[in-house]
Amino acid sequence: MSCLFCKIVGKEIPATVVAENDDAIAFRDIHPAAPTHVLVIPKTHIASVADMGADDAALLGRLVLFASEVAKTEGIGETGFRLVSNTGPNAGQSVFHLHWHVLGGRTMSWPPG
Ligand code: AMP
Repeated sequence: MSCLFCKIVGKEIPATVVAENDDAIAFRDIHPAAPTHVLVIPKTHIASVADMGADDAALLGRLVLFASEVAKTEGIGETGFRLVSNTGPNAGQSVFHLHWHVLGGRTMSWPPG
């Protein structure tokens, strides 16, 4: 198993886990880009949003709901947060295991850089 995030799921490398359920785990990003920066990932290996299919629709819904729950638990549910899933080279994806960045705790600009 060479995938970094699969190793976090398997507890082979440490992470600061903030929430977990049957499908997913949420842990703090090692290089936070905002006061709150949590990554939500499925426990199964899927490389990116672009690699999801119709069979993954229910999982996709549960992951987004989980990310929303994590945002609320982190105290950014009311002030607002951004869910980002960088997909592919132009978006700057660096880890090829599906993940949502849950970012909040500061005002963010649009469009993103
Ligand atoms: P992306 O560049 O969108 O694929 O996001 C990957 C994210 O994973 C980056 O924000 C990294 O800071 C984060 N990251 C990489 N390695 C670790 C790690 N061991 N623990 C927590 N976050 C990590």
